[in-house]
Amino acid sequence: RHLNLTIHTVSASSKPVIPTPLVSRLFQPSNLREGQDGGDLTCRSQRLMVQTGLIHPSNPGCFYYLPVALRSLEKLVRLIDEEMHAIGGQKVDMPALCSAELWKKSGRWELMGKEMFRLLDRHNGEYCLGPTHEEAVTELFASQTTMSYKKLPLLLYQVTRKFRDEQKPKFGLLRGREFYMKDMYSFDINEEAALHTYNSVCQAYRRILDRLHLKWVQVQADTGNIGGTLSHEFQLPADIGEDKLLVCGNCGFSANIETMEPGQAKCSQCQTGKLTESRGIEVGHTFYLGTKYSQAFKALFVNASNVPAVAEMGCFGLGVTRILAASIEVMSTEDAIHWPGLIAPYQVCVLPPKKGSKAHEATQKAEELAQSLGNSLPNLRGEVVLDDRTQMTIGKRLKDAKILGYPFVVVVGQTALDDLASFEVVCQQSGETLFLSKDGLVDLL
Ligand code: ATP
Ligand code: MG
Ligand code: MG
Ligand code: MG
Repeated sequence: RHLNLTIHTVSASSKPVIPTPLVSRLFQPSNLREGQDGGDLTCRSQRLMVQTGLIHPSNPGCFYYLPVALRSLEKLVRLIDEEMHAIGGQKVDMPALCSAELWKKSGRWELMGKEMFRLLDRHNGEYCLGPTHEEAVTELFASQTTMSYKKLPLLLYQVTRKFRDEQKPKFGLLRGREFYMKDMYSFDINEEAALHTYNSVCQAYRRILDRLHLKWVQVQADTGNIGGTLSHEFQLPADIGEDKLLVCGNCGFSANIETMEPGQAKCSQCQTGKLTESRGIEVGHTFYLGTKYSQAFKALFVNASNVPAVAEMGCFGLGVTRILAASIEVMSTEDAIHWPGLIAPYQVCVLPPKKGSKAHEATQKAEELAQSLGNSLPNLRGEVVLDDRTQMTIGKRLKDAKILGYPFVVVVGQTALDDLASFEVVCQQSGETLFLSKDGLVDLL
């Protein structure tokens, strides 16, 4: 008998040749004319993102995510997926339209106040657009009547749009009314196991921020209206941050000021250290919930003695669009985006010379280079654009490339036609300019 043992995966099947993306054709409408400072654009990331056509403002706190930004966002989601899978997370996608019934069960229908977008369906049924999903996921778990302890811990997560009618949407994607969050919910057999899960998620969050080369602090945090007994926030130090943080100069203990009494000057952990205040952008928040939701929804599992028991829960949020904007905010200069390398929308931009009598051969060389780099090396597949706006000078296009922050810009000029065939490579991160042969360039990338 013949068995067909081929394993089918999309990534292993033969791939189409990718045409080089051309800068002239990218849908990247700039909403800022040159020389305009963007008046109401309230922070660096928002200004740079609007200027370079990454986002386009819609109504307050809502944005179009344009193609170049979406590439970054998708890379960020892949990175998060990787780390969530590494700790046993399973991805789901829950309805954004949530029935008021669920929220009344937990008591949060009233508690959420004006921040919740509420609506009626045609039968006058009350709904909201999900600002978070503790209720929904606990209901889902509770619907499983014979959940065995052997299936726990269960870690379910999603990356979806969340809706919050923020009083003051501002700073672009940093505080939107519609934004992407990665929210994970955990179910465990007891407190000890739940705390173990809590720590493993915190560790995954630290890994994500480290892999993005972001400076972060993990601070003790308030549990707010989500509830629970243990909570941390992941904060990026930044002057425009809306959270005030206290850090102990002696033992390093750090906390969101919301968790302390007003005017507290001494550390509550070591009792001696002096606390200094700084500001941060909250990019992640973890909660140990205990049985707050699982009690209310009767989220039960069958334990080892075959008796139903209430699951212990945790919930964990990462602001996906906030991380995207915050990394631009903290890494960039006034006039140039600096991306965490892993989520730069494109890795390489190739610049052919300005249109002119002697340019023909070099232009061809540039097109070939972009095409071969973008298809041959697996890590560069689809990552190489050609700035074909050859009516513009190299200098002007270099400036644009610098603002957008491609990690590598390759200028193909006369030297590319010499015997030694060298390309001028501008490395945005280090600011260095190198002259490399094609092989040298492939090695570098
Ligand atoms: P904030 O204090 O900034 O209002 P939050 O404490 O209300 O945030 P959480 O409920 O803890 O937010 O949600 C988890 C994560 O979702 C936050 O850590 C943040 O990264 C992100 N987030 C919250 N609100 C917004 C928003 N309006 N726009 C973009 N991201 C947000
Ligand atoms: Mg909030
Ligand atoms: Mg907060
Ligand atoms: Mg929070």
